[in-house]
Amino acid sequence: MKKLLPTSTAGSLPKPAWLAQPETLWSPWKLEGEELNEGKQDALRVVLHDQQSSGIDIVSDGEQTRQHFVTTFIENLSGVDFEKRETVRIRDRYDASVPTVVGEVSRQRPVFVEDAKFLRAQTDRPIKWALPGPMTMIDTLYDDHYKSREKLAWEFAKILNQEAKELEASGVDIIQFDEPAFNVFFDEVSDWGIAALEKAAEGLKCETAVHICYGYGIKANNDWKKTLGAEWRQYEDVFPKLQNSTIDMISLECQHSRVPMDLIELLRGKKVMVGAIDVATDTIETPEEVADILRKALQFVDADKLYPCTNCGMAPLSRSVARDKLTALSAGAAIVRCELSG
Ligand SMILES: [Zn+2]
Repeated sequence: MKKLLPTSTAGSLPKPAWLAQPETLWSPWKLEGEELNEGKQDALRVVLHDQQSSGIDIVSDGEQTRQHFVTTFIENLSGVDFEKRETVRIRDRYDASVPTVVGEVSRQRPVFVEDAKFLRAQTDRPIKWALPGPMTMIDTLYDDHYKSREKLAWEFAKILNQEAKELEASGVDIIQFDEPAFNVFFDEVSDWGIAALEKAAEGLKCETAVHICYGYGIKANNDWKKTLGAEWRQYEDVFPKLQNSTIDMISLECQHSRVPMDLIELLRGKKVMVGAIDVATDTIETPEEVADILRKALQFVDADKLYPCTNCGMAPLSRSVARDKLTALSAGAAIVRCELSG
């Protein structure tokens, strides 16, 4: 992409109130059957319009066709029993009742490929598509079959690779794997997490990205953040391994986070999606606040590799707050773009 500092979002955007309960994470659908399919496509058109009119350069589906960034993908696989549930601890942070892996996991059909084709047909801008990462997928399940986190992650990586190749063929420009679990399970990231991520991205000719964050602005995550101290150095462990990996882009959170900016230096050579919008507050950033984050990031990443972004998904926010934040992101990027070319 030739434009300097192309803007994008980390992933999800709020759904319209006629499709799902607003300002609620993982909210159930309000429609059914053919009406639901049509509703999802209409919502996708609306969030595309909002992104384009706010000046977002790399657009996405805003995850309008999925209820949950991990579960919706797994629901389309065989080998997982959603009726058989066990309580497990997610990312060492909160307990949840989760489905059980009861047999070999496999993908019976494409999951998001038709949605991606629909989005591709609506816009000429570059498209980014998010998929869950293998480690984050296994962390939302009880495994009664493989009885090995590594083995299950590897099987999911193979399935993700099948889906990713079809997304690429349907015209997706950047495939992003969401791996918030990379911020928690450091030993596993080293042992097999990076390898599983690379397996998921194997053979792709489009660009590949990984999003690692401190989670949506929900209470369990906000409480966890309070325990992390004055400086959040979790990325310090993972970034050198990603710098050595085959993944092209890394997405991280910077606005109002306690991540020391100089950790970006550990990614030198990679493209960096810098989170300049806080998704845990309704306060709209000023363009100058966005520009300030980008200027600081520019000390550690070359201008042609800096991608202004949001800290995480914006699904839990109201639609008007999300729109205003997108506009602030574009305006802030424009200020710095002007300084760079001036
Ligand atoms: Zn995130």
